[in-house]
Amino acid sequence: MPELPEVEVVRAGLEAHVTGRIIASAEVLHPRAVRRHVPGAADFAGRLAGVKVEAARRRGKYLWLDLADGQALLAHLGMSGQMRVQPPGAPDEKHLRVRFTFADGGPELRFVDQRTFGGLALADLVDSGGTPVPDTIAHIARDPMDPAFDLAVAARALRARRTEVKRALLDQTLVSGVGNIYADEALWRARLHWARPTERLTAAQARAVLGAAADVMAEALAAGGTSFDALYVNVNGQSGYFDRSLNAYGQAGRPCDRCGTPIRRDPFMNRSSFSCPRCQPRPRGPR
Ligand SMILES: [Zn+2]
Repeated sequence: MPELPEVEVVRAGLEAHVTGRIIASAEVLHPRAVRRHVPGAADFAGRLAGVKVEAARRRGKYLWLDLADGQALLAHLGMSGQMRVQPPGAPDEKHLRVRFTFADGGPELRFVDQRTFGGLALADLVDSGGTPVPDTIAHIARDPMDPAFDLAVAARALRARRTEVKRALLDQTLVSGVGNIYADEALWRARLHWARPTERLTAAQARAVLGAAADVMAEALAAGGTSFDALYVNVNGQSGYFDRSLNAYGQAGRPCDRCGTPIRRDPFMNRSSFSCPRCQPRPRGPR
């Protein structure tokens, strides 16, 4: 799955290449790509023709275009979804699913998705705390990199939960955009075991782990953003550019960068949690 910094790279690319342009046509080449748009492919295409793109936005890993008629074009990248900006007439990609042409005759926007787990859909824009968001994702919380993210409010909400801290970090209605990688890295930085009960976190610990999540995302974005090619908007689900700077995630058996103790791996929700046994001791006693 693409992580938040990769989705932000795509958003910035769409902002640069698509905002302010009028869609001439939307051509759906595979119906599965618009399966979340319940009225169907013809309705999807009909409602987009002649509409201006006002902005490219993101909340957590959800990406959308604000359209001038009050709709949003919401993109789910899934496992392998890509947004590409290509000159008209460039050969079709093998897994091209939807093509957008523009009234200015300039570069096309193409949704390419090999595994077709991703897709596009139209939604109505609604107000969420002063920001327009698609109604279908209005329940998604702000992410830690959002300028309007309120760390103190999020920390209080985290401590009000009755669960393990990592499960709370992955809950998109509490804080969005934190995937398995960022959760493990933030917990390592805050020296918290993933199973720590949220109700026993101090206010300082809750702020520390959320602040760490924001920091590690910002660092990954700074690293990944530099590889962005201005004429090629692309996300491919690979997160290779994080690997060099990871302290916990995927580091099982390697020495902790802080204390040298080998990083451990625990099973967690059909995946894994990586942590330092010394810096992040297991919580004691029953919850
Ligand atoms: Zn350690």
